[in-house]
Amino acid sequence: MRKPLIAGNWKMNGLRADLGEIQAMAKGATVALRRKADLLICPPATVISKATMNTIGTGIAIGAQDCHAKASGAHTGDVSAAMLFDAGATAVIVGHSERRTDHAEKDADVKAKAEAVIGQGMLAIICVGETRAEREAGKALAVVRRQLRGSVPAGGSAADIVVAYEPVWAIGTGLTPTNADIAEMHADIRKTLKGILAKGEAEKCRILYGGSVKPSNAAEILALDDVDGALVGGASLKAADFLAIAGAV
Ligand code: PEP
Repeated sequence: MRKPLIAGNWKMNGLRADLGEIQAMAKGATVALRRKADLLICPPATVISKATMNTIGTGIAIGAQDCHAKASGAHTGDVSAAMLFDAGATAVIVGHSERRTDHAEKDADVKAKAEAVIGQGMLAIICVGETRAEREAGKALAVVRRQLRGSVPAGGSAADIVVAYEPVWAIGTGLTPTNADIAEMHADIRKTLKGILAKGEAEKCRILYGGSVKPSNAAEILALDDVDGALVGGASLKAADFLAIAGAV
């Protein structure tokens, strides 16, 4: 019922010269693979337009990594959802832990950004996840519930919202939670979404796992109940790795 989404987050990596990797992904996104999963790459905003042109008619969609909550105005250096849509993006990651940490973004900021993304007709990929200290203190479920209630717009639907569970301590570290911990968290996220979204939407909403997903661990993570895809950082920079992860669906 839920088509898996494999999304790549290039973070602050990637020049025009690196777009050959996205072209290689587009080439490798066979009809069989496209039937199994939706594929999305979120490169830096500077190359979205070119990446979009390189992937027209292929199985790779292009997204962005953040946006401003406002449509336009005096916000030097910021980029609006409308601008990203204009450049060719069909999805925007919001609330990534690096944004929450580096830019002190709070749940309310993330919700406002998600609303801007949805208002533009794009998919909002809303990131949540606990720190190592919070998990060790037994607070992981409570922290993520609080983030969801603060970050997910109540008016959202499964068609325009994806939740990405990314434990902060697993991002870029090579560490991952146990499969049991991932499954427990994803089940709890779905339960929490039932209290936020309109009736029937939580069951249809995709919940991605993110944090050190690579070709060698993708199959077991993607096979877990309530894991509807992955948000992939480092391993999405190379076409071969990204396609191997997608192939593990
Ligand atoms: C991310 O940046 O969202 C991420 C999950 O990174 P990595 O896969 O490198 O841990």
